[in-house]
Amino acid sequence: MAKKDYYQVLGCSRTASAEEIKKAYRKLALQHHPDRNRDNPEAEERFKEASEAYSVLGNSEKRQVYDQYGIEGLRAGGGSDFGFFSDSIFSDFGDILGDMFGFGGGFAGGRQRRGPRKGSDLGLEVTLTLEETFLGIEREIEVERERNCDACDGSGSAPGHDAETCRKCGGSGSVRVSQGFFSMATACPSCSGRGKVITHACAKCRGLGRQRESKKIKVSFPAGIDEGNRLRVAGEGEGGRQGGAPGDLYVVVRVKPDPRFQRHGQDLLLQLPISFSQAALGDLVSAETFEGAEKIKIPAGTQNGHILKIKNKGFRQVNRWSRGDLLVQVQVVTPRNLTRQESELFRQLREIEAGKGQHAVEGDRVN
Ligand SMILES: [Zn+2]
Ligand SMILES: [Zn+2]
Repeated sequence: MAKKDYYQVLGCSRTASAEEIKKAYRKLALQHHPDRNRDNPEAEERFKEASEAYSVLGNSEKRQVYDQYGIEGLRAGGGSDFGFFSDSIFSDFGDILGDMFGFGGGFAGGRQRRGPRKGSDLGLEVTLTLEETFLGIEREIEVERERNCDACDGSGSAPGHDAETCRKCGGSGSVRVSQGFFSMATACPSCSGRGKVITHACAKCRGLGRQRESKKIKVSFPAGIDEGNRLRVAGEGEGGRQGGAPGDLYVVVRVKPDPRFQRHGQDLLLQLPISFSQAALGDLVSAETFEGAEKIKIPAGTQNGHILKIKNKGFRQVNRWSRGDLLVQVQVVTPRNLTRQESELFRQLREIEAGKGQHAVEGDRVN
């Protein structure tokens, strides 16, 4: 699938509201829906494109990541492909398409079917140091999740015993119940809609077909990743059922504050203490940054709080070349515990300043 600009695909501006985006998608989906365009690969392609665009822009979190980092941001750190459209288009958008076409959830009806079901997505938070977000890091994280029981391969039946066809529903999984004038199908209470009944439960999972497992997964956090960013790791969520694909794992980034540095957008802010004389006369100093020592030129006459900018030494944009700046905020430190010589020099300086009319009343002096 071509990687077009999602806003262009939907014909929306970048500032479009969620409602406008939904509207634009509905319109395109109606126009290009495969049911209305039989044997028309172009329409199918447009339909897929629009659905892909909507799957991102229609989700406020994905949209935020897309706006900030583009499609790469959504893929960052995740699996090898960006495949959360192909299978899920119809299930994700069943609601919208369903009421659009008056199917009463014709697409969504797939949710009740007994065939393969995709596993649920999982989410967890990982706390990184500011330095780790600056440089990027690969981290092993542990995920607790549910997968098919390996003893019975998810069937729930002990080896050598197949589940039997449910007698109540004859294996269809649904029974009809009457309610007033209506008769409607509902999941069979005897087999919970599965159509089969387990006669000899698997000893390991006691017939559930599922087991909990804890797995270590390597996740790579790209340089420049920020607080609240979310990475998708494809296929590492809960296991699917009846042969369905596993869900995805979403990792949300939290950033621990750093005692020396702060992040401002893409800029890295450093507080740099300097002395009176360095501020007055200027100096060339070396400051330790996340990337090693950085030479910083302090101009003569620098005031307290002044910010010096060092271009392109700030945070990287995730998966892009551009970088923010290193901002060095000067803190002029008043000296304490002066030596005899320092006191003498400051006194001389004070005399000179008094001569220039910079001091007020002679009698106010303490020493
Ligand atoms: Zn089992
Ligand atoms: Zn049944």
